[in-house]
Amino acid sequence: MKRVGLMGGTFDPIHIGHLLAAETAREQCGLDEVWFIPSRTPPLKSGAPSASGEDRLEMVRLAIAGQPAFKALDLELRRPGISYSIDTVHELSARCPGCSFAYIIGGDRVNDLPRWHRIDELAASVAFIGVARPGHPVDIGSLPESLRGRVRIIPMPQLDISSSAIRALRREGRSVRYLVPDGVHDFIVRKGLYGS
Ligand code: ATP
Ligand code: MG
Repeated sequence: MKRVGLMGGTFDPIHIGHLLAAETAREQCGLDEVWFIPSRTPPLKSGAPSASGEDRLEMVRLAIAGQPAFKALDLELRRPGISYSIDTVHELSARCPGCSFAYIIGGDRVNDLPRWHRIDELAASVAFIGVARPGHPVDIGSLPESLRGRVRIIPMPQLDISSSAIRALRREGRSVRYLVPDGVHDFIVRKGLYGS
């Protein structure tokens, strides 16, 4: 079995919090690969992503270029409609019958797991690897019992970084260097993304 971590998100833009979560999960959970999957229309977010799907995917590619265990997948960007994880997992399981999957998620997403689309079915097919996020302490105890056993929390240095905060900095004309990898920084500046 190939052990694959799935890193879903809007990645608007991808930042070092995403990358550290993926690398920490890869190492601590013995994952063979981590697949980054930018979503077209996230189910639980209000408002459309700011950057195009094409640009968000390109930023993911730039960010992971140096890590051969990391891959970028465009299946959610190609699939019309809301990007439900359950559909993604069905598609990936069919594509890779020899793979076992675990979603890597931040504390905010751990806590809203009960609201995920067809969560019981999803949790039957994949495990979840959770990392704490500043402002989003993980509260496993508040999850329904059926989910609790499917979530493994791993320690990681907490980074108070979010894509929304990065977009806000850009709107104010401020620097986002080092919050994102250099290649992503240069791409954002060159394309004038998130500017006022
Ligand atoms: P936004 O502010 O636009 O929601 P975000 O920084 O939360 O952006 P997302 O694309 O929404 O990024 O998140 C993708 C996944 O990465 C989610 O599971 C989220 O919890 C996780 N994540 C994002 N930032 C961090 C961080 N700093 N530490 C740990 N996990 C994170
Ligand atoms: Mg988020």
